Amino acid sequence: MAYQSINPATGALVKTFDNHTDAQVQAALAVAHAVYKSDWSKGDIQPRLAVLDKLADLIEARSEQLAVTLVQEMGKRISEARFEVQMSADIARYYARNAAGFLAGRKLETAHGDAWTEYHPIGVVVAVEPWNFPLYQLIRVAGPNIAVGNPVLAKHASNVPQAAAAFEQLVRAAGAPAGVWTNLYASGDQVAALIADDRVQGVALTGSEKAGSIVAAQAGKYLKKSVLELGGADVFMVLDDADVDKAAEVGAAARLYVAGQACNAAKRFLVHEKVADRFLEKFTAIFAGIKVGDPMDESADMGPLCSLAARADIAQQVDNAVQAGATLHYGGKALPGPGAYYSPTILTNVTRDNPAYFSEFFGPVAQVYVVRSDDEAVELANDSMFGLSGVVFSADVERARKLASRIETGSVWINTRSSTSPELPFGGVKRSGYGRELAEDGLKELVNQKMIVVARG
Ligand code: NAP
Repeated sequence: MAYQSINPATGALVKTFDNHTDAQVQAALAVAHAVYKSDWSKGDIQPRLAVLDKLADLIEARSEQLAVTLVQEMGKRISEARFEVQMSADIARYYARNAAGFLAGRKLETAHGDAWTEYHPIGVVVAVEPWNFPLYQLIRVAGPNIAVGNPVLAKHASNVPQAAAAFEQLVRAAGAPAGVWTNLYASGDQVAALIADDRVQGVALTGSEKAGSIVAAQAGKYLKKSVLELGGADVFMVLDDADVDKAAEVGAAARLYVAGQACNAAKRFLVHEKVADRFLEKFTAIFAGIKVGDPMDESADMGPLCSLAARADIAQQVDNAVQAGATLHYGGKALPGPGAYYSPTILTNVTRDNPAYFSEFFGPVAQVYVVRSDDEAVELANDSMFGLSGVVFSADVERARKLASRIETGSVWINTRSSTSPELPFGGVKRSGYGRELAEDGLKELVNQKMIVVARG
């Protein structure tokens, strides 16, 4: 895949980057491995945390420039890009402040003597990351791995090469030695060769099921630990006692954020029959009022999809859903002009034999289902290949909590949309992947949790 910045709002090619050669990839691995063998990885944590602290400051200092890069490469709205940049700084600072405590080790109670756990780096980690949150996805990996001392070789998505380069420069500018974080414009074959190498000990991938399955198989073949953050078809449940207007507002925002291209976006709306008409009326009115336009225009409510190819894919998925019997309740149109714009879209009457039922729609397309009971809502929620996050809207928090416990996902948010924060673990079950990023849980995925015992007497 060619590494190219193409502005999705205009279709203009901004810049093309050369792929790294096999020799460059191997040289990068040698440098990263040397870092792992050095005091940087094996020594005191404080210099590593100082880099994360400085990285947070640098991200904030360059926030506007970074935000504009994100808009121009993948088309999110400028306000969404600013939020992502600030979240990225927050994650760096979170690990700078908390990682020493998380990695302090713990005493173990045993009859064998004095025993404790220590946390050590495992070696070079290969990271494969997606374009939808070009900065946030990188810091989610960089924060914990810099803190623990694992050097990272990062293959970012081929449509966000400027963000990839900017992040590598920021890590260096924050004081990290060469090899702590290396951006590689690498091919799938080069990633496979890295994973096969004994010096690589961990793999982190965020992306589609397809890429996740390929890369996880490579990691499994060579017995490397992997963390996979994949797709989702998250439910947004609206119970019969919910504040329906608020649910419709929050639900529309949750579906249309970043033009619908978030893994944890609400994708399937399960609405109790008693409030279904009112919800759909309000929800449709909000979709109809969305101003789709230039992502640099502060007044736009939704920007383009990340590429013309992504728009063609979502348009095809909608057409297929309708051909298989779904109702196109609203939208379903590619907008004229050179940009990758697509209208906010609502599908209803999606039956279980429709391919849409089990698919992730990575664009501004909501599926609305009507349910008659809480049990039916849970059954429908769990009748999915995915299990990333979910939402329950209800005036009765106890009732919502009971449902939250029954939904097969990595997280559930009650009376608000699914989001992310440095201190909250992020990840899923089923085909949404395994392992966690962020929080203390994410820090401890790719570490050697070493146990030591000193015999008594
Ligand atoms: P994708 O095609 O899987 O791409 C993700 C990354 O994988 C890119 O860097 C891509 O490189 C790389 N890749 C693809 N095939 C590969 C292979 N055979 N070997 C090595 N690397 C390979 O995913 P996408 O469609 O761009 O991203 C959207 C998907 O990511 C959605 O399903 C979304 O839900 C998911 N996602 C999940 C999370 C989460 O935290 N769970 C977060 C964000 C996104 P190229 O660009 O060069 O192809």
